Amino acid sequence: MSISIKQLEHLYGNRKVLKNIIHEFEKGQFYGIIGPNGSGKTTLLKLIANLLKPSNETIWISGQDVTTLREKVRAREMAMVPQIFNIDLAFSVEEIVAMGRYPYKKGLGDLTENDQAVIYQALDKTNLLNNRLRDVNTLSGGELQRVILARAIAQQTSILLLDEPLSHLDIHHQIDMLNLTKKLSKEEDKTILCVMHDLNLTMKYCDQVLLLSDGEIYASGKTKEVLTEENIRSVYGINAEIVEINGHNIIIY
Ligand code: ADP
Repeated sequence: MSISIKQLEHLYGNRKVLKNIIHEFEKGQFYGIIGPNGSGKTTLLKLIANLLKPSNETIWISGQDVTTLREKVRAREMAMVPQIFNIDLAFSVEEIVAMGRYPYKKGLGDLTENDQAVIYQALDKTNLLNNRLRDVNTLSGGELQRVILARAIAQQTSILLLDEPLSHLDIHHQIDMLNLTKKLSKEEDKTILCVMHDLNLTMKYCDQVLLLSDGEIYASGKTKEVLTEENIRSVYGINAEIVEINGHNIIIY
């Protein structure tokens, strides 16, 4: 599934926070969305997910205007892992992941054997099988983040939108999450858009990068071509040095 964005802009009140966004996201690619705080990363993801209303005919998912898709149809095409989530009620991990099957249900239909298998696989992929009966309110921030990713995996969409999925994770779980996300893009041909902060992890894992600055696309394309010393200096205002070690580009601040 591809995403095509044509001349997108967004205003909060009368303040324009995104302007002239034009981009094609291809399937099977893992995109890092990067840029300083306030550059518009979350707003862009929310517009793609239709959580904020884009102006008509600016965001197309495989040839269909995203604003015209019915909610359940859209939920079968893309899943979002938001930055902040509150779960007030006492659901178990497995119940939250099962909610990922909602777009495939008519009314309150029971889970089928296939649904159960998909839920089991999502729990397995995110290493949550042992925690599946726990109340989500007792989980750490990192565990909860994995539950929300598992729910998105259970949704079986071809597009996955991740807003800073690493923020609550220690480095071990960050690497696990990135390896899993990368695998989903390569083995299941998913289009992944992931808001990233760590530029070295972006360099290592993302196929392509969209670098936002002040609500505009400053640069986009292959990760190594976008993450240059010059672009980092212009957009983040820091002097970084990029060195190559064993074929990998490492950014030194
Ligand atoms: P990023 O994710 O890159 O940090 P955001 O998309 O969250 O950036 O925000 C872009 C700009 O829009 C920022 O200046 C932010 O303060 C502003 N903004 C974000 N959400 C709202 C909102 N609900 N109302 C008004 N301004 C907002």
